[in-house]
Amino acid sequence: MATIYKCPTCGGNMLYDAELGQLKCEQCSLEMPVQDYETTDAKEENNAYTEDGRRQYRCPSCGATLMTDTYTAATSCAYCGSPNVIEEQVDRDFKPDIVLPFQVERKEAVEKLNKWCRGGILTPSDFLKDDVVKAKLNGIYVPFWVYDIMTDSSIAAHCERVSVTTSGNKETTKRYKYHVKRSGKAAFARIPRDASKRMDNKKMDMLEPFQIDKAKEFSGAYLSGFSAERYSETKDEVYSRASGIARQYAIDELRNTISGYDSVNVTSEHVDMNCVKTDYALYPVWHYEYKYNNKLYEFMMNGQTGKVVGKPPVSIGKVFLVAATCFVTVFSLAASLVAFALG
Ligand SMILES: [Zn+2]
Ligand SMILES: [Zn+2]
Repeated sequence: MATIYKCPTCGGNMLYDAELGQLKCEQCSLEMPVQDYETTDAKEENNAYTEDGRRQYRCPSCGATLMTDTYTAATSCAYCGSPNVIEEQVDRDFKPDIVLPFQVERKEAVEKLNKWCRGGILTPSDFLKDDVVKAKLNGIYVPFWVYDIMTDSSIAAHCERVSVTTSGNKETTKRYKYHVKRSGKAAFARIPRDASKRMDNKKMDMLEPFQIDKAKEFSGAYLSGFSAERYSETKDEVYSRASGIARQYAIDELRNTISGYDSVNVTSEHVDMNCVKTDYALYPVWHYEYKYNNKLYEFMMNGQTGKVVGKPPVSIGKVFLVAATCFVTVFSLAASLVAFALG
């Protein structure tokens, strides 16, 4: 079932507005908090079916057939542009517990993209062209698992203190050896790891930190006007990526309490872990893909903080141009210095 959030006043499309933090009608600008929206105003089409892992829907607005892949949870109609939310992908087993709504709106994302590659001084000329950015900049809600993990850990270490005493010409070195043990419990709250096969794990990790305190209880209305994916990796499959972090923090915490020795050699580490809670969440990411010289450049932006991860393409022609300009500047500077000395 595909849903379009319609304006109760004029029937236009209600989109989630990142700047306002609520729904806004594309046509008459009516604003409304997400929780006030009555789903009876939504327009729905009930004939979804699956074929070869791909899904077919009818757009509730124009009736066109939409093809999406297995994981798409929200998209815009390729024909009329209406913001479709695909209910089965955010319902029952796939219903997110929480959503982190976009806070960086599209215009601001474009500005940040510009700033990030220094106004495009070295990038290909159409890299930041309005229509290219507009067509390719995509706001995606990426699926994440958020874990609360308790640890009970212990470490043991061989430590040494060295004292050197001098009497006359004679130097005496004494080594004192200690067997040191530490143990402790810790709680690690809200460790997020992405649950999307499509997204690069490293890049997603680099987008952190997200502001989990801004999380809202899930409603499909937050997705209106954005793309969204449902999870393609289960919480068990992703767990080791979160527990690895908790484990390392727990060990580091204990290790940091051993001090006052000249050497510390950790001989054993043991961590018992217990995952006490897992939430399924949708996180906001601006995504931009650009193909240049047959290479795909991908950049991602944290949709709450504007933090950017990626590498912009560099235009060789522009590098030469900048280098040449620098050379001319230095050369003319040298020339004027000579002229000054002569004058
Ligand atoms: Zn309206
Ligand atoms: Zn349509």
